[in-house]
Amino acid sequence: VAGDIHAEVLVLGAGPGGYTAAFRAADLGKQVVLIERWPTLGGVCLNVGCIPSKALLHAAKVIDETQDMGNHGIRFTDPTIDLDALRSWKDGVVKKLTGGLTGLAKQRKVNVVSGFGRFISLNQVEVEQADGSKKVVTFDQAIIAAGSEPVTLPFIPHDDPRVIDSTGALELGGIPKRLLVLGGGIIGLEMATVYHALGSKVTIVELMDQIIPGADKDIVTPLMKRIKKKYENIHLKTKVTKVEATEAGLVAHFEGGSAPETDTFDRVLVAVGRRPNGRTIGAENAGVAVDERGYIAVDKQMRTNVAHIYAIGDVVGQPMLAHKAVHEGRVAAEAAAGKNSFFDAKVIPSVAYTDPEVAWVGPTENELKAKGVKYGKGVFPWAASGRSLSLGRDEGITKILFDETTDRIIGCGIVGPSAGDLIAEAALAIEMGADAEDIGLTIHPHPTLSETMGMAAEVFEGTITDLY
Ligand code: FAD
Repeated sequence: VAGDIHAEVLVLGAGPGGYTAAFRAADLGKQVVLIERWPTLGGVCLNVGCIPSKALLHAAKVIDETQDMGNHGIRFTDPTIDLDALRSWKDGVVKKLTGGLTGLAKQRKVNVVSGFGRFISLNQVEVEQADGSKKVVTFDQAIIAAGSEPVTLPFIPHDDPRVIDSTGALELGGIPKRLLVLGGGIIGLEMATVYHALGSKVTIVELMDQIIPGADKDIVTPLMKRIKKKYENIHLKTKVTKVEATEAGLVAHFEGGSAPETDTFDRVLVAVGRRPNGRTIGAENAGVAVDERGYIAVDKQMRTNVAHIYAIGDVVGQPMLAHKAVHEGRVAAEAAAGKNSFFDAKVIPSVAYTDPEVAWVGPTENELKAKGVKYGKGVFPWAASGRSLSLGRDEGITKILFDETTDRIIGCGIVGPSAGDLIAEAALAIEMGADAEDIGLTIHPHPTLSETMGMAAEVFEGTITDLY
């Protein structure tokens, strides 16, 4: 069937997965069409996710650190917050990156088509442009990179402007006096960090018995301790059953835990997870199987049940993280170009960019216990790290999990400032099959937080006992 445009490789969605796949396929000599409904490239991560949140978290960190220094002899006056200037700085950071992507697409002659794409057959996608006009792109092979969107809840008035999701929170529409964050996962806690630093009184409500339920409790505890002192309330094992929009505010109804029956907030941030966009792209018209939640199953080459159609990123499953999407995007592009590439990562690190940061990679202790795996661990408390103390912080922990028979590292959890950067060493060690001795004998620079990795390995080996 003749279409308006033909692609050797069509990529649907220009997030971290999609633009990586598009660029890699173009570099391998393919004619690529990249379809994106938003005006800029970069997807959730660059526009309304990883990057703007990290810019605002940096601002929050500066505020928090100036406050902390008050206890150590340097007192600053309270910050004056120019929300418009902060917003433009954050927008500028995003624009630099998304603009850069447009340049990179041009350099590679990737044809970017704006509009909402839906499969209409096994080898056609119809793109509806902003003005309502439609184009058809035919393709030899396609890569679905349609990402995910925030979950909404039926008992919450999402049409009230005071109810926001992460995108709304990043818009910085104002600083609410009292903010309720629904969901104690990574995204909710990062936004809580920002708004607390900007002056909001924050309440967090979480269904499970700990914040960041995916991580081991011991590495979450230092974060919990710190924010418990700062935030108005943290309600664990608590359900929000209803939010009512009234003139006086948003009235949240709670069930369980330590929460009152109701409480009134100026704004409610709903951060209870993200759902994949698999059911919105007409996948059925191409015969691509999508499960009832919207996920698309793929093999190790990122191929769907339809041999010439691949899928990558948030739409193929957890963890919904940009670095996973990027690696999957590269594999899909290479496979589409005939290369024998596979997605074969042993582990994918997760990071909460809270203060302190919480990072983990590989199975957690909870997961190992549930599976009955025998493991050993080395735990190094940062109270014995000179660098940590000189940052004015001593609550961190580096914990490495080892296979009991081979001494090989299988997992790692770190909490403390810069934990997200430190976890990369553990990911590399796991990929390379390093054992405790390899890590312990590696000379880490002194005084750095990275030394805590070597120390944790030595604790496991029993080669240091006296931490001071
Ligand atoms: P997405 O980034 O979701 O991109 C999908 C793209 O497809 C979008 O641009 C969308 O407009 C487009 N699209 C969808 N359907 C269509 C269609 N039918 N037609 C045309 N275009 C379409 N991850 C991290 O690793 N680190 C972080 O620090 C981090 N922070 C985050 C903070 C927040 C607030 C949020 C919300 C997410 C964060 N994430 C983070 C997650 C990360 O953003 C996602 O995992 C990542 O963006 C997924 O990439 P993707 O390519 O699968 O899809």
